Amino acid sequence: MGLVYINGELVPKEEAKISVFDHGLLYGDGIFEGIRVYNGHIFHINAHVDRLFNSAKAINLEIPISKSEIKEALNKTVKASELDDPYIRLVITRGEGTLGLDPRKCAKPQIIIIVDKIQLYSEELYKKGLNTAIVSTIRNHYEALNPRIKSLNYLNNILAKIQCAAFNKDEGIMLNKDGLVAECTGDNIFIVKDSVVITPPTSAGILLGITRNTIIDLAREKGIEVKEMDLTRYDLYTADECFLTGTAAQIISVVTIDDLKIADGVPGKITLSLLDAFRNLISNYAGEK
Ligand code: PMP
Repeated sequence: MGLVYINGELVPKEEAKISVFDHGLLYGDGIFEGIRVYNGHIFHINAHVDRLFNSAKAINLEIPISKSEIKEALNKTVKASELDDPYIRLVITRGEGTLGLDPRKCAKPQIIIIVDKIQLYSEELYKKGLNTAIVSTIRNHYEALNPRIKSLNYLNNILAKIQCAAFNKDEGIMLNKDGLVAECTGDNIFIVKDSVVITPPTSAGILLGITRNTIIDLAREKGIEVKEMDLTRYDLYTADECFLTGTAAQIISVVTIDDLKIADGVPGKITLSLLDAFRNLISNYAGEK
């Protein structure tokens, strides 16, 4: 059953409620993490909790409980949900405030943990790959709202998603203000060129994805060279392979960009071998302290 933790209390998902004066709702003022459970263990719990606290710091939000208390709450909610390897949405809002913007008037951050199932793409799409488009909405400039902050304000990504839906594509690729490849609406992006795996650096204005780091490690363990390098539209169109990574999407191949086929228009060998390695890793996942 889907279960929600709100400030220490566990409630069924239908009964989970917060105030309409919460600035998370009124202004997108808050932060979140999307986390998976694999083989009964929360995947990279420390990296997610560290990223959450960094997002909080960057928006001057003081999370009222400690990292270890958050981890305890995550484990407790997952266990109580009785769901088999669920998806977790951990949300910290600024809390209930006034109708003005001022975050100092918000009483107390709300801690919400939603535990439920998620499936973004069908198994068929993992085999066939995604059709994508480069959208005209650019990724947030890092001095406006740094994409490294996993904030509740996802309108930048949603605008890109609306464009990608208008093009009837599975995912939208976003460039930054310099025209360099940044990331997708909810995933990081990689290409393979001449057997080298390449992904944009954080300086391109991206979320530092936890799946991105896992895939970089897996590729290096396999002896594949990995580079973090700026990429242009040209590099995407002429890539040998292209794939996306994210907690919800895991790792999934891209076979067309703007209706142009990537290589032969079928998932590439390196992508499929990384998908295999990732699935192997998660099915044997033993957790972290
Ligand atoms: N970029 C964006 C914009 C995201 O929202 C996400 C997470 N859904 C990612 C990349 C991937 O990050 P992670 O692998 O940590 O889920």
